[in-house]
Amino acid sequence: MIIVPLGVGSATPTATRHLSSVAVWREGSVYLFDCGENAQMRMLQGGLKRSQIDCIFISHFDTDHYSGLIGLLSTLQLQRRDRELTIVGPKGIQEFVEWNFDFANIDLKYPLNFVEVEEGFEEERVVDEDEFYVEARPLNHTKFCIGYRFQEKDKPGKVDAEKAQEQGISEDWQYKELKAGNDVELDDGTVVKSADIVGHPRPGDSFAYITDTKYCPNSVKLAMNTNVLFHEATFSESLSEKAEETGHSTAKDAARVANEAKTKLLVITHFSARYTNEYVLLREARDDFFPTWVATELRPIFTDPAHEKGIIQPKVYLKEINQNKNKDNNSNNNSGGRSSSSDNKKKRSRKKKKRFRKRKNHSGKDKKTRNKYSKSNDSDSGRKRKRRNKSGSKKDKSNNNGGNNGNQRQPKQITPRTPFDDFDRF
Ligand SMILES: [Zn+2]
Repeated sequence: MIIVPLGVGSATPTATRHLSSVAVWREGSVYLFDCGENAQMRMLQGGLKRSQIDCIFISHFDTDHYSGLIGLLSTLQLQRRDRELTIVGPKGIQEFVEWNFDFANIDLKYPLNFVEVEEGFEEERVVDEDEFYVEARPLNHTKFCIGYRFQEKDKPGKVDAEKAQEQGISEDWQYKELKAGNDVELDDGTVVKSADIVGHPRPGDSFAYITDTKYCPNSVKLAMNTNVLFHEATFSESLSEKAEETGHSTAKDAARVANEAKTKLLVITHFSARYTNEYVLLREARDDFFPTWVATELRPIFTDPAHEKGIIQPKVYLKEINQNKNKDNNSNNNSGGRSSSSDNKKKRSRKKKKRFRKRKNHSGKDKKTRNKYSKSNDSDSGRKRKRRNKSGSKKDKSNNNGGNNGNQRQPKQITPRTPFDDFDRF
């Protein structure tokens, strides 16, 4: 399961944060939780295909959580989708979608399957497939709001292929039967027991999406023993009164849910625009629960990193990921690899500096004949060095601002950057 935050802002988008939405990728399908403005653009930038969406889950009818829905559905129409799409949300979601397309006189060519949840419900399995289900529970916000838990069903145990062959299993259907827990009778009458060949079933991964709510017991129930708990942390503890008043959580509330639910990883999201630096919130949550991460837009979170890394590649510049790449490139460069990131340039200029100093010492020792010449040479090189340092620092600066320089292969910048997009601050 790969979780890609598409928007981590609350209420209003900022220059660096989009409105609420998170995509869960599983076995080639995408499940979208909330669909804020720009969610479809962020999917593209995150390296996710919109055609892969199977279900969209809407938590509640605050505009920042569903304002991107009609645009996304229109895009799917233009892409000539013919596959069914399931939309889950509070009662009224069907009316909203149908009214919009009626208004625009658009006849949707692909079937929509609406699952509406009415206020007052306690718990409902809103989607139930062979390999996973999605459970919904009401949360505690200023208006009817739903929390979701995406739960993979237990996976069958691993098949011991060697043992199976030894016992005479060779056909695909025989493996399937064994995997399904059924014993297989061979032609000679011997029975191969499933329990001998197939290991214990493995528990499925789980993800809880809890946003726009005060602390409530249903959050804990949804998040119980999850691999990843995606929880809002709109405010810091100093604004807990405001959180209470507006039906939101503080970073500490999120950590409390994580603790009580014994989740494996807490990821906080839905940051108020007043926090230009969400690490304030991270620190508060981390004081009470570890591990806690900050949801970073387009940066994937893996439940099984060993197998999932590299499946989804962001198409735009992500500061942290690229910084790591620079480090990798550096190590490649040392071992003869080819790379020219600005970091490497800095390194090279440092190397040159060292060589220059050596020569200086050397000429100092040489005395007499070369004395005059070497002096002028030194000052000349000194000027050169100064110039080099100047240009070096310029490059560093532009790199910090998120610029694409050097020949390093970086993802395309799709969103044009304005001087107001000061990405370095985040
Ligand atoms: Zn919200």
